[in-house]
This record gives sequence, structure tokens and C-alpha cells, in this order.
Amino acid sequence: MNIILFGPPGAGKGTQAKKLVDFYGIPQISTGDILRANVRAETELGLAAKAFMDRGDLVPDEVLIGIIKNRLNEPDCTKGFILDGYPRTLPQANALGVILEEIEKPIDIILNFEVPDEELVERTSGRLMCKCGASYHKTFNPPKKAGICDICGAEVYQRADDTEEAVKNRLEVYKKQTQPLIDYYKETGILVTLDGTKDINEVFEGIKGILTKFA
Ligand SMILES: [Zn+2]
Repeated sequence: MNIILFGPPGAGKGTQAKKLVDFYGIPQISTGDILRANVRAETELGLAAKAFMDRGDLVPDEVLIGIIKNRLNEPDCTKGFILDGYPRTLPQANALGVILEEIEKPIDIILNFEVPDEELVERTSGRLMCKCGASYHKTFNPPKKAGICDICGAEVYQRADDTEEAVKNRLEVYKKQTQPLIDYYKETGILVTLDGTKDINEVFEGIKGILTKFA
């Protein structure tokens, strides 16, 4: 069961990824995480990536794809994997296609989470954080006492990149980048679009229904 997750920031992709990991026992592969792990372990590719990062440059696709390939070849990916946050561009999608063919792990399905912009802005720009790691939402999950963390009593705050302006910008960037990818994968017939406005459990039941043919 080899899955790619697509969806704008705030569409609930992360929540569903966690549920998939728990339910099917397949790992979620986040490129950020495996990149950091390779840098820490000072693997050949990790060191190559670090040289770019130290200069403030983006890690080039060929380095990243090598790291992904190694990760997908690890034993815990035998039953499948969930790729989250990758690919982001058409060249990355092409490079990924090549390595997946090489290691004989073709993508079975791409789950594309759709949520209208206005709702995404409302969800994300209402987010409140606490330095203890707790998170809240102004409307959907406010702290019991306004502005104060339920757990540690500290003042909650909004992250600078969660303001309405910042969220709208992120969505624009996401769309510009991802739309060509969505069109590309639609043609392959393995892209399924999900209504991310539904209740978390309802969305997950829908996903399970879609995945029965791969389990
Ligand atoms: Zn707190």
C-alpha cells in the first residue's frame, strides 16, 4: 500500500496520516524528518545535503531523491509507506517516478485533500500555540480561560506564520506549485480527491473504503 498525501496546509493531512500509520502499521515518510536524520547520522547524502543547507541553499532534488530511495528500501516499508510533503514539483514527481520504478514500489494511490480557501484560512489563522507544546483554536478548541494555556498556565500566542495574510500567501504558493502536479497525477488515474471539510473520522472511513482494494 504505497500512498502519497496531497493537500494544502490546514487540510487535515497530518491527522489522517497519523490515523493511517496507526491503522495499517505502515510508516509515514516526511522528507524533512529523513533529511534531518541523514544529516545527523552523517550519511554520504546527509553530508551532501548539509553542504547546501549550510550555505542557505535548498537541497537539490537529486540529493533528496537519494535519501528518499534509501528510506523506502528500509524493512519497515515492505508493507507500504505514506509519503507526505513530497513531491512538490513536477521535476520531483518525475524523479520519484523513476526511483519507484527502480525499486519496484509503484504508487498505488494519491489522496488529495480539498478544503475551500476560506475554511483553510479560518482553521489555520485561528491556531493558538503554547510554549509547552499545547495547541488550541480560537473558535473550535479555545483554552478554558481566554488566552491562558489549560496545561501550564502560560499565555498562548499566534505564530507569526499563522496570521490571515501569511496563511493566504501560503495557500497561493501551494496552489501555484501543486496544481500542475495534481493535473499530472490525475492523468495517471490514481488520484482520489477527498472532501477535507468533513469530520475527521468520516474522512478516515472514506479513506479506508478506498484502500480496501490494496490492503
Ligand atoms: Zn502550555
